[in-house]
Amino acid sequence: MSGLTVCVTGASGFIAGQTIRALLEQGYNVRGTVRGDPDSAQYSYLRDLPQAERLSLLPADLTQPDSFDAAIAGCDYVLHTASPFLLEVKNPQHELVDPAVNGTLDVLRATQRADTVKRVILTSSVAAITDEPDSNHVFTEEDWNRKSSLTRNAYFYSKVMAERAAWDFMSSQHTGFDMVVLNPCVVIGKSLGPALNASNQLFRELLTGAFPGIMALNFCMVDVEDVARAHILAMENPDAEGRYICYSDAMTMAELVEFLRQQGYSASLPSRDLSAGWMSALLKLLSYTQSKGSGDFIRARLGKTMRITNAKICAELGMTFRPVKDSVMATVADLQKWGHVALD
Ligand code: NDP
Repeated sequence: MSGLTVCVTGASGFIAGQTIRALLEQGYNVRGTVRGDPDSAQYSYLRDLPQAERLSLLPADLTQPDSFDAAIAGCDYVLHTASPFLLEVKNPQHELVDPAVNGTLDVLRATQRADTVKRVILTSSVAAITDEPDSNHVFTEEDWNRKSSLTRNAYFYSKVMAERAAWDFMSSQHTGFDMVVLNPCVVIGKSLGPALNASNQLFRELLTGAFPGIMALNFCMVDVEDVARAHILAMENPDAEGRYICYSDAMTMAELVEFLRQQGYSASLPSRDLSAGWMSALLKLLSYTQSKGSGDFIRARLGKTMRITNAKICAELGMTFRPVKDSVMATVADLQKWGHVALD
């Protein structure tokens, strides 16, 4: 029984839910922050977790200055996962960048005021490492995404800006705590709550015929339960330092479709092969007719192979990742469980 208290911001989130479950299982007391009424039924799946007598939910909002103070006061650790994860927005500065950056700084200031916290784990993203695969380069923690902007992959930009602001804060302030950053790639797997996460949504689209065909795209994936474990390893290991990419393995869209077909999910999977080079060029043109978020994403990625390494987290934190095909199956089962897809 650890007896230590951990604040998890954005407790209603996909990653936060699994992290809270794992923290409670390991004997931690958990303070989760939520935007809504902490007593409302929408959070009952958290209150029903095993050992939830050690969980309390408190209100806090990234757009409300000083609103994290009560949740962080007296805590030993802070896991800052809250951030808007939206691919389609009207006003990227207002909806993405401001809450991500100002909210992160607010959490760090509240942590400083609390004066009890040993370490903050910031959930950044591979989005802060790159928004564009490069077949000739293996991305590591040394890399920074310098291409995203308010007009190109704005969600990615919000993650870069928030992580940079956090490192700047840490280097300019005399804090009594340190910070470790996690950079997960596309997080998939089992959700504790009914909401459909933006990353699992990819599978719903794949399974429900939303893609016109099999495109030259590859996806670097990691299981949400592994990301939860990585948060705790990064928190507990005194030698943890800097950024850590969380990544299990990559699959191309063709490999995903073939694997899902083998598992018997054939009905609405895309079948037309759109992966030839000339087809990618055409799809890039057509992507300008799609929503801004999807169009940006597709244009930056089509025809390129994303290569990334998890060597640092495996070597320094002893992290292991479950096979990506197991996570794919867990994701499909979860989509069915919550009624996000109806499959035979
Ligand atoms: P979710 O969308 O499931 O969770 C996001 C959380 O942030 C929710 O709890 C949400 O609260 C909260 N939030 C959003 N805006 C605000 C706000 N203004 N004030 C307070 N809370 C807010 O996403 P994930 O769990 O997937 O993401 C968690 C973190 O991991 C994010 O920082 C994301 O960028 C990062 N990440 C996610 C990846 C993925 O593939 N899923 C990959 C890499 C990084 P509410 O429920 O009220 O909306």
